[in-house]
Amino acid sequence: MPPTTAEVAVVGGGLAGAGAACVLAKAGHEVMLLEREASATHKICGEFLSTETQGYLRRLGLDLDGLGGHVVSHLRLVRENTIVETALPFNGMGLSRYRLDEALLNHACQCGAQLSRGQRASVADISGSIDLDVQNAGTVRTNTLFLATGKHDLRELRRHPDTPPEDLVGFKMHFDVDSTQRHALANHVELVLFAHGYAGLQRVEDGRVNLCLLAEGSWLKACGGTWEGLLEELLRTCPHLQRRLSNATPLLSQPLTIYRVPYGFVYNPPANSAGNIYRLGDQVGVISSFSGDGMGIALHSGVVAATHYLAGLDAGSYHRRIRHDIASQIWRAGLLYRASRWAPSQRLLMGWTRLMPRSLRLAASLTRIPPSAVTQAMERIP
Ligand SMILES: Cc1cc2nc3c(=O)[nH]c(=O)nc-3n(C[C@H](O)[C@H](O)[C@H](O)COP(=O)(O)OP(=O)(O)OC[C@H]3O[C@@H](n4cnc5c(N)ncnc54)[C@H](O)[C@@H]3O)c2cc1C
Repeated sequence: MPPTTAEVAVVGGGLAGAGAACVLAKAGHEVMLLEREASATHKICGEFLSTETQGYLRRLGLDLDGLGGHVVSHLRLVRENTIVETALPFNGMGLSRYRLDEALLNHACQCGAQLSRGQRASVADISGSIDLDVQNAGTVRTNTLFLATGKHDLRELRRHPDTPPEDLVGFKMHFDVDSTQRHALANHVELVLFAHGYAGLQRVEDGRVNLCLLAEGSWLKACGGTWEGLLEELLRTCPHLQRRLSNATPLLSQPLTIYRVPYGFVYNPPANSAGNIYRLGDQVGVISSFSGDGMGIALHSGVVAATHYLAGLDAGSYHRRIRHDIASQIWRAGLLYRASRWAPSQRLLMGWTRLMPRSLRLAASLTRIPPSAVTQAMERIP
C-alpha cells in the first residue's frame, strides 16, 4: 500500500496535539491528527483548568462554557485538622478530561484537521522525511511531526529526564458524594496534605467530585499494594477526606493510575536534533501536578509550536522559545512541591499560610506561565 501523505502529522490527540491541530488547520494547512484511543476516555488528572487553560481553549474557539464545568474561585489547603482558605487570583474551572479532550478533538475536526482515531502510531523512519507506522492504516509520510503523546514515549523518540522520576504513584477516581459534602465543595479546590503525599479534591461537571492523589510507592506497598487498601488507610488517617468521602459512591469501575511521572522534566534538544520534530505538552515539559497548570503548558506549547511552524521557524527555534517560557515555572513548582513534602515543612507551610493566607495566591501566581508569554502566543493565533 503506498504511504498516505500529510503536510503535518500530529501524534497524540490530547490538549497539546488537538490545540496545535486547531491552529494549523484554521490557517489552511493539511494536518493529520492521530489518536490511539477510539473514543472518549478518562485520563488521570486533577481536572483543574487554570486561567491560561481556559483562555487558550476560548481563544481556539471552543465553547468552553457550554461544557458544564464547575467554577472554582477558592483554594482550601488542608493538613490534619488545620484548614486555610483563600481566594484564587483567578477563577479556575473543574471539568473532566473525558468531556474536555473529546470536545477539543471534535473542535479540531471542525477547524479542518483530519482525525484518525483508534490508531497507535510509531516511528518507522526519521532519516529524511518522517514515516510513521500507524496501526491498521499503513504508513503515513510527512515532512513535519508534532509529537504530543503526553506521558507515553515513542520508542525512537524517548525523553531523557536528567534525574530519575520519584517513586510516586498517582490515582484518580470520580465520586458521587452526599449533598452536604457537595455543597461544602462548591467553588473550592481542596489540596489535602498527608504524610505520604497529597490529594486534590474538587467538583467537575454534573455534580461529580474528582479525587486525584499522589502517594509514595513504598506507602502504597505498605497499604497492601491496592487502591482499596490505600483509600482505606487514607480515610482512616485523614479526618478531612474521611468526612468528604465516607458516604461517597465511586463512579468509575476502577481508578486511573500512573507511576513514576518525570516531574521537573524540560526538553533540552541535543545539538543534532531534527528541525522538523516539534515536541508538545508533557513531551516538552512536565510540571508538578499540584500547580494545576499542566494543561495550560500543553495548550501553550501547542499554540507556540503551531505559530512557529506557520511563521516558517523550525523546531530548534520553537524549543528554545518554549524552554524560555516554561523552565522557571516548572522549577519553582518543583521547589514548592518539595517544600510541601515532609511533615516538618508541611507544618511550617500550614503555620505560614494561616498567618498569611494570601501567600497561597502568590504561590499560585509563581507556578503559572508568564502572562506576557501567554499574551504574545495568543496574539499569534490566526
Ligand atoms: C496526577 C496528575 C494530576 C494532574 N492534574 C492536573 C490539573 O489538575 N490541571 C492541569 O492543568 N494539569 C494537570 N496535570 C497535568 C496534565 O494532565 C498534563 O500535563 C496534560 O494532560 C498534558 O497534555 P498532553 O496533550 O501533553 O498529553 P495527554 O493529555 O496525555 O495526551 C496525549 C494523547 O496522546 C495519545 N497517544 C499516546 N501515545 C500515542 C501513540 N503512540 N499514537 C497515537 N496517540 C497516542 C494518548 O491517547 C493521549 O490522548 C496532572 C497530571 C497528573 C499526572
